[in-house]
Amino acid sequence: MPKSLPEQLLTQGDFLKLTLAHPDSLEPFQFDLPDDTRVSVWDTGVICFEPATLTGKDIVLSCGVHGNETAPIEICAELVQDVLLGRLNLKHRLLVLFGNPPAINAGKREVTENLNRLFSGHHSAGEGLVNAERIRAKALEDYVSRFYSDKRVTKMVPRNRCLYDLHTAIRGSRFEKFAVYPFVHGKSWQKAQLEFLRACDVTTVLLMQTPASTFSYYASNTHGADAFTIELGKVRPFGQNDMSRFAKARQTLRALVSLAEVATEPFVEADFQLYQVYRAINKQTDAFKLNFADDVENFTSYPVGTVLATDGDIEYRVEREGEALIFPNAKVAIGQRAMLMVVPTTVSDNLA
Ligand SMILES: [Zn+2]
Repeated sequence: MPKSLPEQLLTQGDFLKLTLAHPDSLEPFQFDLPDDTRVSVWDTGVICFEPATLTGKDIVLSCGVHGNETAPIEICAELVQDVLLGRLNLKHRLLVLFGNPPAINAGKREVTENLNRLFSGHHSAGEGLVNAERIRAKALEDYVSRFYSDKRVTKMVPRNRCLYDLHTAIRGSRFEKFAVYPFVHGKSWQKAQLEFLRACDVTTVLLMQTPASTFSYYASNTHGADAFTIELGKVRPFGQNDMSRFAKARQTLRALVSLAEVATEPFVEADFQLYQVYRAINKQTDAFKLNFADDVENFTSYPVGTVLATDGDIEYRVEREGEALIFPNAKVAIGQRAMLMVVPTTVSDNLA
């Protein structure tokens, strides 16, 4: 007789394999681990763990929101496997999300539409829930809401909610790893979170000043979670990642889920490269063209006056000393962001 799905997960622990074999949906099921941790599979790529003794922390780890960003998928798949096989004992509630299984199977960033531009209701704007990515964005929002609003834990206050959405960038970066800190609407930046990022070997942080359609902004703004988009390096195919480059992130995420507190170094601003957005350059016509090589690294800067891009008659030049570019992509749809320009900043005036 073939093994049941709980038996498969208890003996092999390969939730990623199960997800990729059922990329569109998976009937929910649940079972318990020998240490009484409750395991609930809510959907394809959605697995929730609840230790028998609940704590004040609710942790969400997500990966594969862009299907070809394999290193974070490997890190999360291994962590889930180790929990299922009893090699890593959880301390806190944990929801792990493999964002876009059909795109992971296709080895592509997206199938139809960029999933990480569809959160906070953008999935239902315009033509509505017309493709798999829009439907998935809404489902992921619902799963995160369900996880954070579980009645057994909302009674226990205060809740310490976090969401780390793990990515790798399309291009290389002057700073290999960096995090995007979503707009916090005038609230303080959290020192403890910057210390956590540093423990993950992430010391370049982009502080956003406007709302966004990303998963991390959704978790931060809608659920008050400490949420980040974390870029761990450059996109490579499965099996071709040098996992030693992610060792600290891997280790710190494992400590996060299994220990009462992660050991971190005290925050010192000089250890960080902090940036804020100076301006976004949006593609306005099909004539949009970047004026530098395709493989330019994120956080590259050019002298003031350098032409960065042209869009028909419009010319974009470097306006400020230290202005650096990130996420350049001439292939985005018209009206979308083709490049973000950032400048160095400080957090000392608004840190808690
Ligand atoms: Zn990504």
